[in-house]
Amino acid sequence: METKRPTNPRAEEILGGYFPVLDHGFVSLVDYMGTDDSIERAARVSYGYGTRKSSRTRGLIRYLRRHRHSTPSEMVELKFHCAMPMFIARQWIRHRTASVNEYSGRYSLMPLLFYTPDEEHFNVQSSTNNQGRGGQADTRLHREAVERWNAIREHAAGGYEWMVGEDVAREIARIDLPLSTYTQWYWKIDLHNLLHFLSLRVDPHAQYEIRAYAEVIAGMMARVAPLSYEAWLDYDLGGRPLSRGERRALARLLSTDAESVAVRDGARLSNDDLAELGLSAREVREFAAKLADPPELGFELDLSRMRSAEDVEAEMAKAVPAIEPRPSSD
Ligand SMILES: Cc1cc2nc3c(=O)[nH]c(=O)nc-3n(C[C@H](O)[C@H](O)[C@H](O)COP(=O)(O)OP(=O)(O)OC[C@H]3O[C@@H](n4cnc5c(N)ncnc54)[C@H](O)[C@@H]3O)c2cc1C
Repeated sequence: METKRPTNPRAEEILGGYFPVLDHGFVSLVDYMGTDDSIERAARVSYGYGTRKSSRTRGLIRYLRRHRHSTPSEMVELKFHCAMPMFIARQWIRHRTASVNEYSGRYSLMPLLFYTPDEEHFNVQSSTNNQGRGGQADTRLHREAVERWNAIREHAAGGYEWMVGEDVAREIARIDLPLSTYTQWYWKIDLHNLLHFLSLRVDPHAQYEIRAYAEVIAGMMARVAPLSYEAWLDYDLGGRPLSRGERRALARLLSTDAESVAVRDGARLSNDDLAELGLSAREVREFAAKLADPPELGFELDLSRMRSAEDVEAEMAKAVPAIEPRPSSD
């Protein structure tokens, strides 16, 4: 039977497909409820989908986003199946506005898959940002780190396999699996909170590994609600809020009327002038960055990387320790 629900053909195209992330992770859009039309319908509290022009839907969605009228976008929901290293799950789970169901290491055997950063993403500590990476480390260091990681993981995996083979409870056998071990969850979130998650996690300040997931999810979201995606790029991700001092500075530099924006003759503000407007030296640097031409933004999915659920499931199953069931003593 044909569905009466609003759907998007570009979302249907990827529904249930698995997109690889990092070395053993993935994201799959397993379901969604609603599209841009649902946002318009909720905003107008209307009776049906009708035949509104898409240009009017676009105008409304952009207006709502600019004016932070967010509840209509909570009417759209997206559900994902994701596999990520545990240290990334720990960052991800801080976003409290999603519903999560994680793979149970108490109930099921853990697939013994561990994340290994490739050389390109193996960096030294940043000297300017205590919470980030600096330049790329050299090849020798990467090679040795990989050897050490492999040794630790072999040991941890061996202990796990031995314990579950001895019928130790899975909930105890797993306790020393490293943070690089892949876990999985179903993750359901509404569009408003998803966009908040994406704004924080596609940002260059976020750790590379969670960014890799957020970028794929952004590409999926773009297929469910393309007008909301476009408004998010324009007003949130590519936009920057201005402080009172920054607005005052701009008002001294520019004159505006209904027809145009013009530079005031001879207008110039020194750092001292900006300090008088209340901007600290750091805020002045941040102001300059806000005024820079924004980079091109886009999160198109690479469909050639999409894999079937069966394929991914078989790979995960292969990574689970093969344990002979012990004869029951009952
Ligand atoms: C680059 C970066 C570095 C970070 N570093 C650290 C770190 O060093 N240590 C650390 O502990 N965390 C760190 N975090 C996590 C960060 O502090 C947030 O916990 C995380 O980003 C989730 O954001 P959120 O609370 O806005 O999201 P969500 O939990 O999804 O909440 C969304 C919004 O809902 C509202 N909300 C949700 N729950 C509540 C509540 N209980 N009360 C009031 N409002 C609520 C808030 O408006 C919130 O913004 C970092 C995050 C980033 C992006």
